[in-house]
Amino acid sequence: MKNNISKIEQLEQYILFTPQEKKKIKKVIKSHPMLINQYYMDLINWNDLDDPIRKMIIPSSEENRFEGSFDTSGEQENTKLRGLQHKYSNTVLILTTNSCMAYCRHCFRKRLVGIVADEIVKDWKLVVKYICDHKEITNVLLSGGDPLMLANDRIAGILQKFSNIQHLKFIRIGTRIPVVCPDRIANDDELINIFRKYSCEKKRLYIVTQFNHPREITSSSIKAIKKLNNAHIIVNNQTVLLKGVNDNPVVMAELQNKLTEIGVVPYYVFQCRPVKKLKNIFQVSLYKAFNIIEETRAMLDGFSKRFRFVMSHKTGKIEIIGRKNDNLYFKYHQAKDELLANKIFHKKLNKSDCWLDL
Ligand code: SF4
Repeated sequence: MKNNISKIEQLEQYILFTPQEKKKIKKVIKSHPMLINQYYMDLINWNDLDDPIRKMIIPSSEENRFEGSFDTSGEQENTKLRGLQHKYSNTVLILTTNSCMAYCRHCFRKRLVGIVADEIVKDWKLVVKYICDHKEITNVLLSGGDPLMLANDRIAGILQKFSNIQHLKFIRIGTRIPVVCPDRIANDDELINIFRKYSCEKKRLYIVTQFNHPREITSSSIKAIKKLNNAHIIVNNQTVLLKGVNDNPVVMAELQNKLTEIGVVPYYVFQCRPVKKLKNIFQVSLYKAFNIIEETRAMLDGFSKRFRFVMSHKTGKIEIIGRKNDNLYFKYHQAKDELLANKIFHKKLNKSDCWLDL
């Protein structure tokens, strides 16, 4: 990691900045750090100023607008103890670390990745006790930052803590490592053996990853997915719909097709959240987004279009299910308030609206 790019001076061997741009970007990365590993840097086509990989990882001088929020899905109000969020009755989400291999410019946890650790679990005994005391919890989602940034013995230690909780049925690990640093998986048999042992003998493990563009699918990432599949780990993908990256039905269809081909389940496509500093750069309006997804689905076979198009809203996970004239139709796929579960509703939005005001 010591060769990773974290300073604008290191970027100057790839990009020519004007003095003003350099000053602006320096200010941006002071509050939202830059970190890019060589593998992911090498995916960028430097001849294309609008390259989609570049857009996801190179800081922009436009990351300076304050509209939006740093907590778009109510993480603070769902935090029951430090590092543990409980929004939906069956699931707890655990913040294991604030580090990642590379910091995505579109990250919705921009408020913490690479900056502050005060939302990360401090006392694992309290986490285990909370889960033991809440028999309705069937699964744990390890998140962050990126849990696979932790050393193998720490990962095994965390999995071990949950192994004896009878009412837990499975564990999910949310990680972008298969995308940004697949060799961490493909070349580490110790990690694979830990996964195999826990998934086969203790609690079923699932990896949830985030491929956003077909060019992120490389021979290395395919090898990593194969290793995970061979260790009895099912890999699910959550794509974020991002302007200038994958807001094109042909690109989106190619991505979902390729994921199915390499053994990854298309699980969700997320509407990009209205996060401060990034909403103006990455969000697509809901009408446009819905049309992109519909055109994408029309190009896909049934297996590749298993994903749901959703927004992770404060009130729940809301699926965007249809359009009639100017009305968009929504359905609660998961609801914070159980009275809203499965509720279908419609709204006439402004053409430029990118989020629901509920
Ligand atoms: S890997 Fe995930 S948590 Fe880390 S910066 Fe990217 S989106 Fe955020």
